[in-house]
Amino acid sequence: MVLDIIVMIKQVPDAEEIFIDPVKFTLNRSQARGVINPADENALEAALMIKDKTPAKITVITMGPPAAESALLECMGRGADRGILITDRAFAAADTYATSLTLAAAVKKIGRFDLILAGESTTDSGTGHVGPGVAEFMQADQVTYSTSVKIEGDTIIAERELEHGIEVVQTPMPALVTMLINANIPRRSSLRRRIDAMRKGIETMDHESLGLPPEWVGIKGSPTIVGSLKIPEEKKRLNKTITLEEIPEMVKELIENKAIVLGDDEDA
Ligand SMILES: Cc1cc2nc3c(=O)[nH]c(=O)nc-3n(C[C@H](O)[C@H](O)[C@H](O)COP(=O)(O)OP(=O)(O)OC[C@H]3O[C@@H](n4cnc5c(N)ncnc54)[C@H](O)[C@@H]3O)c2cc1C
Repeated sequence: MVLDIIVMIKQVPDAEEIFIDPVKFTLNRSQARGVINPADENALEAALMIKDKTPAKITVITMGPPAAESALLECMGRGADRGILITDRAFAAADTYATSLTLAAAVKKIGRFDLILAGESTTDSGTGHVGPGVAEFMQADQVTYSTSVKIEGDTIIAERELEHGIEVVQTPMPALVTMLINANIPRRSSLRRRIDAMRKGIETMDHESLGLPPEWVGIKGSPTIVGSLKIPEEKKRLNKTITLEEIPEMVKELIENKAIVLGDDEDA
């Protein structure tokens, strides 16, 4: 049996290079260089690790502008078999609901899948909604916050990193798993595979080919309203030079201000 794995990746602006438009409350990414969202690199690596052991076909999908094609080629250079760019002006300014709906429509169009892998969240909006949103639209089981995933028979076994330990979850396929950043070490792409990918090309889908009316996608299909935006004031750090004798008084002050907590206070 050849497993069909779909990996969802988002090309995000280099975090250093984005700013929020204070009038429109939108993210202005126009000046920023595009990179693969870090957790999505871990999702792809998880898929490739499965393919190293089990026959599998990996399809990488992204919804984004035409420039996101380079991210898909990079993924194919690492070992993905197929890249699909879901792109259309009608998809612009989608919130997480419209993004999930569009990605789920693409998954339905692809047809069969055993496993969908996604990042847990992105570095630009970082809601963590999209993986679970797609799972809901596909009515598939979902496992979030995963650090590893492996196949056993027709089930997946994933380790989830929780606040107080690791939870091991087994669930039947098809399922969707979101991977935490740094879950593994992503491999590099090979030049030969990249050239093959460029020859093979990237497939595209738009709202028409997905059978989605324009009012269901992009800004029109997005119920989120950003009412206002507050940019937090930058707090200045204080540097204070103290003598050895002043340390007990300083520690007392820090405890009083709850800057340090004694004992096992878990709520701290
Ligand atoms: C205040 C605000 C304003 C915004 N304004 C705009 C705007 O003007 N224009 C605009 O385009 N966006 C805008 N967005 C962002 C938009 O809502 C998100 O880019 C999009 O819905 C994805 O959400 P996310 O980045 O939080 O994904 P998350 O839910 O954090 O992503 C989790 C995982 O889902 C997958 N995933 C997420 N997005 C995609 C994708 N596009 N393709 C494939 N896989 C994906 C990846 O595997 C990712 O790791 C705004 C967001 C906020 C909070």
